[in-house]
Amino acid sequence: MSFLLITATATFAQDVKLFRIGTGSTAGTYYPIGALIASAISRPPGSAPCDEGGACGVDNLIATAVTSRGSFDNIEGLVSGRFDSALSQADIAAWAYRGDHVFTGKKAYPQLRAIANLYPEHVHLVVRRDLGILSVSDLRGKRVAIDRPGSGTRINTLLIMNAFGIEPTDFEAIELGPEAAITALLEGEVDAAFFVVGYPSVAVTELAETGRFTIAPISGVAANQLILTNRFYTAGAVPLGVYHGVGTIPTLLVGAQWIVQQDADEELIYQITRAFWADSNRELLNSGHVKGRQIRLQTALDGLTVPLHPGARRFYEEVGLIQPPQVTAEPDPDAGPVTGEAAADVSEQGKTVTD
Ligand code: GLU
Repeated sequence: MSFLLITATATFAQDVKLFRIGTGSTAGTYYPIGALIASAISRPPGSAPCDEGGACGVDNLIATAVTSRGSFDNIEGLVSGRFDSALSQADIAAWAYRGDHVFTGKKAYPQLRAIANLYPEHVHLVVRRDLGILSVSDLRGKRVAIDRPGSGTRINTLLIMNAFGIEPTDFEAIELGPEAAITALLEGEVDAAFFVVGYPSVAVTELAETGRFTIAPISGVAANQLILTNRFYTAGAVPLGVYHGVGTIPTLLVGAQWIVQQDADEELIYQITRAFWADSNRELLNSGHVKGRQIRLQTALDGLTVPLHPGARRFYEEVGLIQPPQVTAEPDPDAGPVTGEAAADVSEQGKTVTD
């Protein structure tokens, strides 16, 4: 009896593959979306068949959504081996890949590769209604929760403040994660907080429902200038009705991407990409966080800021979303060395990179 048990355990340990997805705080959207992704791509041993209501993922794969501080932390976690894949804002992924902006002076991570673009995130500037904060410019002299180091939100907040001509000495920056920022706003310890997050954000929902908070717009000349110089950002709006008592609010958007490292096993990433986009998983993606519905195969390659992983590329070629590279009959003697798909040019900001 005990012999059988040991054998079974050994087989389990050998066959099962764990796959950790770095996400964000439990008050954000990355975490619930990461959990949906994990469910879609997992198929633990003993699962019922997919068409009988069982898991529809990759055989013997157990994926898990792991909490983190956000995009920057996720990339650091991915390259250090804490995560097997990560969710990241398009801007942070691009800067990490190229080793510039917030990654200046650190190592560049040219090994970053994309599985898919997921959905747009909106910059939410939540403000106390009683303070009359109508724009970013009104944050001068205020106490602002900017999120913790490791988050994409903190990086974007400082960038936006700078674009609006607000120096770090012009306001009180308070480094609080999303959960702590909610409490601080509710208790009157801060006046405003930034959340770069796919809507509806549970944090903003909770705050709006009190009737004491609204969202301030991020628009006008300074916002447009930011978009022109950083082409990862686009202008958009949080629509009317998303949050209690909040109208249509113009703001900035940035894409959320799902990334891995170049050395992730090609066959595994192919299987994961295929399972993720399988029709059998559509209902699952539609039934969780609202953003799950906006995750669409048609937009999987939109605005990618790092090259596709070869396994993901194989899937997109198979379904006709991208063309396989053309094979020329005669090698061109004047052509430079073939450096493969890693030679993708991402030097141009915001450029869609698919090869
Ligand atoms: N975009 C945020 C960040 O990187 C995280 C958003 C979320 O958790 O949904 O800091």
